[in-house]
Amino acid sequence: MDFHELNARITSCRKCPRLVEWREEVAHVKRKAYLDQEYWGKPVPGFGDQKARVLVVGLAPGAHGSNRTGRQFTGDASGGFLYPALYRAGFANQPSAESRSDGLILKDMYITASARCAPPDNKPNPEELNNCQPYLEREIQILNPKVIVCLGRIAFERILKIYSALTLTLSQTGRGDSRWKFAHGALFKLESGVWILCSYHPSQQNTRTGKLTVKMFDEIWAKARELIELEKFFDEQ
Ligand code: SF4
Repeated sequence: MDFHELNARITSCRKCPRLVEWREEVAHVKRKAYLDQEYWGKPVPGFGDQKARVLVVGLAPGAHGSNRTGRQFTGDASGGFLYPALYRAGFANQPSAESRSDGLILKDMYITASARCAPPDNKPNPEELNNCQPYLEREIQILNPKVIVCLGRIAFERILKIYSALTLTLSQTGRGDSRWKFAHGALFKLESGVWILCSYHPSQQNTRTGKLTVKMFDEIWAKARELIELEKFFDEQ
């Protein structure tokens, strides 16, 4: 299955009744500021360079962001913090993300999520995350990324779960092992050679309170860039 087929499957998925109801209800009622817009109201597929070495994994679409625009981190405050950082780090051709037709192109980066449908209170439940996990697994198989940046603890735990199932790497240490603990800037290397880099999620809750600053976020993308350059160096030896 390639990205085209995978994304077609994702956008037509109705596996989680609670999320299907919520995403469609939000798309129907709309926020006052967007009453004149047609909401996407469906699962949001991954977005970016389909040959990327860096995979970014977020949580889930925002009700009036991705669930409205149909593209990851597009049209809300989280994207308003993320894309300028990616632009500064050279992963994006522009700092803004407003709609699927705004000309945004990602370079060497693919952005996806732990759950593809907007959840109430931004909280997908464990069953919903499990339902959605095969899509993330398939993206990893297609891309074979060198670096995975996890935006938030839920994305990190999802990635650990996937790699626990795929390889012995994590089951040998155990996912409860304190060495595999989420922290902003935490960096892990799997036996397969894939780097896992953790960052706080760029949600308003984190950026408005100063838990995640511009400088802290820029350091994440600089580290991601450093890691792919390092891998390139070793590949060429
Ligand atoms: S969250 Fe994932 S599995 Fe659940 S309905 Fe949406 S796309 Fe399907």
